[in-house]
Formats: sequence, structure tokens, C-alpha cells
Amino acid sequence: MEQNEEKQELLDRRYMRMAFIWAENSYCKRRKVGALLVKNKMIISDGYNGTPSGFENVCEDENDVTKPYVLHAEANAITKVARSNNSSDGATLYVTSSPCIECAKLIIQAGISRVVFAENYRLSDGIELLRRANVELVSVETDK
Ligand SMILES: [Zn+2]
Repeated sequence: MEQNEEKQELLDRRYMRMAFIWAENSYCKRRKVGALLVKNKMIISDGYNGTPSGFENVCEDENDVTKPYVLHAEANAITKVARSNNSSDGATLYVTSSPCIECAKLIIQAGISRVVFAENYRLSDGIELLRRANVELVSVETDK
């Protein structure tokens, strides 16, 4: 049992490192966030924060404020899997930053049962909501 837990921790760290690498795809200047959806040790979706498909690859307006239609990494990963033949039901979400409340709602409704996150987002209401929905929460430290 203990050995399995160790293995899981190792996997969690590795997937998190991949999520950090994936975040490098983001063209947002203020913050780069990466997300991976993993089910049965298979990556079924991925995402990073950015504008919707077909929009300009610029996240900030002329005042350096993030545009309201920028999708968070989690939302991109969840909506991407919705267009695939995979299901997020029972999947684990790896995200480089703890989810906000809007993404927490999507995570719950997508049936994601486990969320592994690295950096703590300034607001904790997303984490609180996930906790209320009995989503397993794991915080991992990485040196990226
Ligand atoms: Zn969010």
C-alpha cells in the first residue's frame, strides 16, 4: 500500500512537470497555466490559458488587462475532451495553478474526481468548492 502511494506521488510529480512544460505553449504574458487530463495513465486532454479557437493569440488588451474571453487552462482541457471520444468522468486533472471558482464548477460537472495542483492561486474559493463536491485534492511541490 505504502509503495503504491509512493508510486502515485512520483507519477503526480511527473505529470505536473509535463503540465508546466505544456504551460509554455501559452502566449499569455501575465500568467501561463498548463493543464492535463489523465485517465487510466493516459493523457486524454490538455490545455493552457488562451483565447478561443480562431481568435487572435493575444490575451491582454492595450492596458495589459487579461481579456474577458480568455479561457483558463482547465476550461480548455475540459472543452477539448468534450470534442473527443474520451470522457473526463473519473479523470485526474493536473493543473499548474489551483483552479478558480469558474473552473471548479466545470471540473465538478465534468465528473473529474481528482485534482492535482502546484501553485496556490490567490483565491481559495475554487478549492473550497471542489472540497465540498468531494473531489480529491492533491497539492504537489515541484522544482519544475
Ligand atoms: Zn479558472
